[in-house]
Amino acid sequence: MSEIKNSGYSGSALRLLQSANCQVGDIIRITYKTNTYEGVLIPRGESGDTTNIIVKLKNGYNVGISATVEGINVEKIGVGIKPMFASPLLPEQNSVLPHVVIMSTGGTIASRVDYRTGAVRSAISASDLYGVVPELSKIARVDTEIVFSTYSENLTPKNWTDLAQKVAERINQGIDGVVIAHGTDTMGYTSAALSFALQNLPVPVIFVGAQRSSDRPSSDAATNLIGAVRAASEAPFAEVGLAMHETISDSAIVVHRGVRVRKCHTSRRDAFKSINDFPIARVLDQKIIMQKDDYQHRDPTRQLVLKTNFCEKVALIKFYPGMDPSIIDYYVSQGFRGILLEGSGLGHVSIFCFEAIKNAIAKGVIVALSSQCIWGRVNIDIYDTGRDLLNFGVVPLDDMFPETGLVKLMWVLGQTSDLKESKRLLKTNIAGEFTSRSLPQEKIVYGAQ
Ligand code: GLU
Repeated sequence: MSEIKNSGYSGSALRLLQSANCQVGDIIRITYKTNTYEGVLIPRGESGDTTNIIVKLKNGYNVGISATVEGINVEKIGVGIKPMFASPLLPEQNSVLPHVVIMSTGGTIASRVDYRTGAVRSAISASDLYGVVPELSKIARVDTEIVFSTYSENLTPKNWTDLAQKVAERINQGIDGVVIAHGTDTMGYTSAALSFALQNLPVPVIFVGAQRSSDRPSSDAATNLIGAVRAASEAPFAEVGLAMHETISDSAIVVHRGVRVRKCHTSRRDAFKSINDFPIARVLDQKIIMQKDDYQHRDPTRQLVLKTNFCEKVALIKFYPGMDPSIIDYYVSQGFRGILLEGSGLGHVSIFCFEAIKNAIAKGVIVALSSQCIWGRVNIDIYDTGRDLLNFGVVPLDDMFPETGLVKLMWVLGQTSDLKESKRLLKTNIAGEFTSRSLPQEKIVYGAQ
């Protein structure tokens, strides 16, 4: 039976399509009971429900029909134009320019719309990105490498480890900067993870994503990528950063510190914001404008230190009114080594959770605390319930927002199993993830000058 090229189909859907000899792009008819659907067979994402066959109907809508419904019949009624995903020609390399690698992990920035079928595919390679944004050849000599090809919600801490090791290989070979194209959903987690894993960086490592795929007219992929490659090639800092639109207009790209950045909007181009800190830099008119004085300077002679272990037995628990404390007991019983509590306000949880927290700590679980407010810092010295938490041994994570706190806790418990050392590391500033003194809040929260 023939394979269905680039289709994403598997399981029962794949078998049914193969038995009817259908390829992506063919016109097919699906019937079951009294239902009939005719349209173009379009590719599907490789994750999610594998039984659905996706058909683009004449009216432009897509339908998913389960291959497992009783009496289903699929027939090919026409041969369509096959989707083309040929790589564009690569631009010429200029040997005097800085040498940068674009590593692709997937997500919208590495996706492309097939305009005929309307499907978005997570399939284009890092070299395609380079090919579709030829301006990059004026900024840097760009190597490309596909590390993963997946949506970022599918990534795990093991992927962070692999990615950090791949980046380290390139840095040790003497590259001038690294760009990592990544799905935006969990890009902030991965940028935090690499900030902890890649210490003493000699050159910048810049994450970049897109809210619209690279071949939509409204795409932010090209401008973000150009900004990221510019920063990786020329920026004076050597840290993990994340480059995205500063506002909804295309005028400036902003580079946030990898441990301080959060996706704060589902769809806007300026979805990413620095939390409790200023961005490191802006890229405006192809110039890097530094926004901070306290950064690690680029120094190709500096020796990278790799610390890539993450402990996955760490949970993030959001406190909410009426939360059942047995949620905490559950994680303890499952052998979790760390719990990050997302407390309310200054960092509070209900007194009904106290016994469960005390028990977790007594069993050797590190219980850390951030605030679900996102902006501001936890301060549990103020109210007596907060002071109780401190007395139990809860570790407040200053002005780290929960996602970075979670990644840090995973990283800390990946480095040591000693409780005292874990607490020491949690309270040590590794990559600029917290400040002990809050910056002017009106500037931080509203971006006021
Ligand atoms: N959810 C996917 C991801 O994060 C696609 C969205 C995007 O890239 O922004 O990879």
